[in-house]
Amino acid sequence: MKAVQNYVKNVVDSVKTTLVGMRITGKYLLQKPITVQYPDERLPIPNRYRGIHYLEQEKCIDCLACARACPIDCIEMDAIRHGKELEWVSFTLDYQKCMFCELCVYPCPKDCIHMGTEFAFTTYDRSEFVHDLLSYKGMSRDAKVRMVEAEAKKKAKDEAKAAKKAAEAAAEGEAAADDAKGDGEG
Ligand code: SF4
Ligand code: SF4
Repeated sequence: MKAVQNYVKNVVDSVKTTLVGMRITGKYLLQKPITVQYPDERLPIPNRYRGIHYLEQEKCIDCLACARACPIDCIEMDAIRHGKELEWVSFTLDYQKCMFCELCVYPCPKDCIHMGTEFAFTTYDRSEFVHDLLSYKGMSRDAKVRMVEAEAKKKAKDEAKAAKKAAEAAAEGEAAADDAKGDGEG
């Protein structure tokens, strides 16, 4: 008799616990799913998040202030100067070393290097962690136009200066000739 009682009790307990579990399952079944299908979907990133840097290259003046401020020397840059214009070769950041401290951002006089919100950076090749922040190499189209304009302006100025000098020399020559002529007649 006791065995039958135990059997019935076990059956009742099983049904009870199954119903408890199913109640929880049912509750979540009716809720909107909260799983984010990364990387196709992403949760919003706070504005102050310190992710992979981005550079406003057009504003950068190659002053090295950011590189000097970095406590672990992970910023390197190379650009050729053409007067006021820059021809960019590289601007790299080594993410094998970077600790995302943001110390490179504050000293920038042009406010052109920023911590971005991008964080996913996976690769099989360690050398790819040395990341070039340049959006273009060489000179920008605007910089080229500005350089050509400045060169033309300089050339015109030099030519005007040379013409003025030549005119002054000619005038001086004429005056000297007149003086010499006057002395001869006297
Ligand atoms: S975030 Fe810090 S460690 Fe990274 S480049 Fe800037 S200063 Fe250097
Ligand atoms: S501090 Fe700013 S302007 Fe100077 S090199 Fe770095 S990013 Fe460019």
